[in-house]
Amino acid sequence: MSLLGAGVLTPPDYPVEIARVDLGPYRETNTGVDYLHSFDSGRPGLHVMVNALTHGNELCGMHVVRRLLDAGVRPKSGRLTLSFANVAAYEQFGAQHLGARFVEQDFNRIWYDDLLDADTQSVEAARAREMRPLVRTVDRLLDLHSTWHALLPFFVLAPLPRVRSLADHLALPPRQLLLPDGIWHEGYHLIDYGAFRDPDASAVALIAECGQHFARSSVDQAWRTTIRFLQVTAVIDAEAAASRCPSLASGEMIERVIERYEIVQPVIAMTDELCLTCSYAGFVSFAKGELAAFDGDQPVLAPFDGAVLLAPRPEPRQGQQAFSWGRRVADHRPNWAPKNEPHR
Ligand SMILES: [Zn+2]
Repeated sequence: MSLLGAGVLTPPDYPVEIARVDLGPYRETNTGVDYLHSFDSGRPGLHVMVNALTHGNELCGMHVVRRLLDAGVRPKSGRLTLSFANVAAYEQFGAQHLGARFVEQDFNRIWYDDLLDADTQSVEAARAREMRPLVRTVDRLLDLHSTWHALLPFFVLAPLPRVRSLADHLALPPRQLLLPDGIWHEGYHLIDYGAFRDPDASAVALIAECGQHFARSSVDQAWRTTIRFLQVTAVIDAEAAASRCPSLASGEMIERVIERYEIVQPVIAMTDELCLTCSYAGFVSFAKGELAAFDGDQPVLAPFDGAVLLAPRPEPRQGQQAFSWGRRVADHRPNWAPKNEPHR
């Protein structure tokens, strides 16, 4: 990162610290669907899913799911599904192609039955249709992602009480970004599909943004969050969780102060040269009128007190969203507990 004039920061370069590996050995599964593994304990319990590679260039989840498969983790109750979603995009990932989020369609914008049925062309819709029958039976989903800039991990979740409750209880990471209520401007995420977004259903789905795409620390973060998720959903017991992730055993990793943010408005770049004046890691708070960026030679000022700069995107072009203004929302006491959750 370097300082240009007027305090503008150029975006940092991120070294690629995570290895790309061949997923060929994980292709064949017991479900009949490539890269979609599912293990039934034969005992009552939740159907819990950990999903990786919704975006092909987000490698932390891929390493976590591999590690769970290699370790032979099986559910002590209910059912456990472990998946690599968009392997076609992942296979484009390499030194020359770090931005291989998807092949033809963003896999995380199409999860609505009418869209999936209408799109007979893209590899992503075909893959989603393959996964859909199993996804429909999932009670708890953790979708593992990473971001280009944000080094601080956070959950992305629907603003539903039961979803907030699970994210509060996991508290690892302690930051939460609430999706807009009923506004589908971006398209339909996997966590928006069917029962996950139905106010009257009980299924719960969360995105965990685990850190920078290429940082080793994002794999460690994804692993801790996943092991805690598997413990809270009773797939593994506390002893197994502690042995797989010793830092969880003391409980010290678990933050008790939850930071919850909501998106207020997007900031659209007016030029091809929008640079921030603050850290690209995000979650920086500004007073009203404070300088946050330069868009070409035009200053971008915070529109209200306590405006928080969220999710800066890499190299936004004119007309593209550069980041969002959000605000921290007041804490609340959850009054809903997920059914059958042991809450240890
Ligand atoms: Zn992603």
